Amino acid sequence: MKERLEALKLEALQELSGVQSQQELNDLRIKYLGKKGPLTEVLRGMGALSAEERPVIGQVANDVRAAIEAVIEEKQAGYQQQETENRLRAEMIDVTLPGRPSQQGAVHPLSKVIQEIEDIFIGMGYTVAEGPEVEQDYYNFEALNLPKDHPARDMQDSFYITDEILMRTQTSPVQVRTMEKRQGEVPIKIICPGKVYRRDDDDATHSHMFTQIEGLVIDRNVRMSDLKGTLLQFVQEMYGKETRIRLRPSFFPFTEPSVEVDVSCAMCGGVGCRTCKQTGWLEILGAGMVHPRVLEMGGYDPKEYTGFAFGMGVERIAMLKYGIEDIRHFYTNDLRFLKQFLHL
Ligand SMILES: [Zn+2]
Repeated sequence: MKERLEALKLEALQELSGVQSQQELNDLRIKYLGKKGPLTEVLRGMGALSAEERPVIGQVANDVRAAIEAVIEEKQAGYQQQETENRLRAEMIDVTLPGRPSQQGAVHPLSKVIQEIEDIFIGMGYTVAEGPEVEQDYYNFEALNLPKDHPARDMQDSFYITDEILMRTQTSPVQVRTMEKRQGEVPIKIICPGKVYRRDDDDATHSHMFTQIEGLVIDRNVRMSDLKGTLLQFVQEMYGKETRIRLRPSFFPFTEPSVEVDVSCAMCGGVGCRTCKQTGWLEILGAGMVHPRVLEMGGYDPKEYTGFAFGMGVERIAMLKYGIEDIRHFYTNDLRFLKQFLHL
């Protein structure tokens, strides 16, 4: 029996020396030390031994078990160490690696230009007024001296929702609403930024939706020279101190007299270039003295009060400022386009 035990030990130790994995080690532990293993079987057979033999064989059996256990323990410790090392390596953080750059958002170029224009006028004492984009015909046209049969309505093809409700074609209804709200009080000094809608076919310079900023001033003794001075100060803050303006007679139903305002081309300084079509001037504003009829409809006595109004397209100003060639870029949300304005 002693020989059997020794043989068992040898066999076990040999097999253990060739162990390759935790799984194999577990299998061998069960094979040699488990309840159904050969060692248990030997010990179970001890009852048949004589009283003298029993302690001797018992001692040998214990030694064999201890020897096998020792090797298994040792191997087990090795695996645990290995496992710990693996885990540490897997979880290791290399603090010297550069971080992943996070995606940075930016203000949309149109919002940027609106903010810039707002800042300039707020600096001149204006406040910002807003109104609905779905508007009543009355505010969009009639109160602005454009009665239903007025031919100038054709200038602004509109999206009508009902006979009386439409998508506003201009931000001017906000001026009417402000006059109504102020009930004859002066001064009014507002700018109204916002989206407007016209039935235009979209191309590089036209969009069925675009952004306007309009201004309105009403007070006693407001003159054309005040309008000119205000606009000159605005364009000089927007495009630089050397910028000049030029007023040309024009027609709008809600102003009288009306002017188109040209600004000296910031690209070429007025010499002539592709942007200004070699004229040295860029047309960016419409303006004029508020029509007496509009004042009257807004609740202001045109004999006592005068005012001026002006309006500009934000897209056009942004396109000139940043050299953007197609108005559609503003609305297609192409990140390649928008990302160019991250650091401007
Ligand atoms: Zn030019």
